[in-house]
Amino acid sequence: SRRPIVSGNWKLNPLTAGEAKETLKLLAANQRAMEESGKDVPEVILFPPYPFVPLASEVLEGTTVAIGGQDCSLYDKGAYTGEVSVSQLASLGCNHLLVGHSERRTVFDETDAEINKKVHLGLNAGLRVMICIGETEDEFLADMANAVNEIQVKKALSGVTAAQMEDITIAYEPVWAIGTGKVCDAPTAQEVHAAVRRVIDELYPDTGVAAKVRILYGGSVTPDTIDVTMRESDIDGVLVGGASLVADKFSRIIDFS
Ligand code: 13P
Repeated sequence: SRRPIVSGNWKLNPLTAGEAKETLKLLAANQRAMEESGKDVPEVILFPPYPFVPLASEVLEGTTVAIGGQDCSLYDKGAYTGEVSVSQLASLGCNHLLVGHSERRTVFDETDAEINKKVHLGLNAGLRVMICIGETEDEFLADMANAVNEIQVKKALSGVTAAQMEDITIAYEPVWAIGTGKVCDAPTAQEVHAAVRRVIDELYPDTGVAAKVRILYGGSVTPDTIDVTMRESDIDGVLVGGASLVADKFSRIIDFS
């Protein structure tokens, strides 16, 4: 059975380090209490904005919460003003990297080829890579969700070996459910997750990879929807946006079971 992951993507929030610190302190306190209670806690990963990575590591020290970068540069070092490399993230204590979020794909025109390159950069730097996929509302309504997600998965995983798949997580985030309050109903999400797992089985036949890889759901997840979402057999956790910015909400999601 697959250990659940609850992850939080802070995106470009909050505005100040002071606000970030307050939230992190509350989150750390909640997390310590949960871990000391002896119950099964899921794996927890937080993706803060780059400048808050050291702060997050410091405040969450002593908890099992791991830290990741929300993206990375296509370059490792050199004359690329404004960029942040995987090596820099790793050296700050990041163990994870988020790649291909729909906001990167749409707002910053990131291509599948660039996303694939970042997947390899992350893996080569020793990071565990969470790849986001998801269809738009038009694609969903046109019954194209599975086709779109299949292409995104295949292109993102190009050149990734079965052994490297140990360090890959997939996050299915239907674009129309992100930040809209329109959570994808659990049985619909389950069908997509099962289809994605079949694609991975096609890519890595007879390896056990498809049965092991964790596929998370993201899009308007809240403490009120988590239980129903986590009941589905192919949904192995969640990637939370808005609700991860409020420590008590995020902790209630982490404490789902
Ligand atoms: P919301 O939870 O705010 O809908 O965001 C989801 C998301 O994009 C997480 O990466």
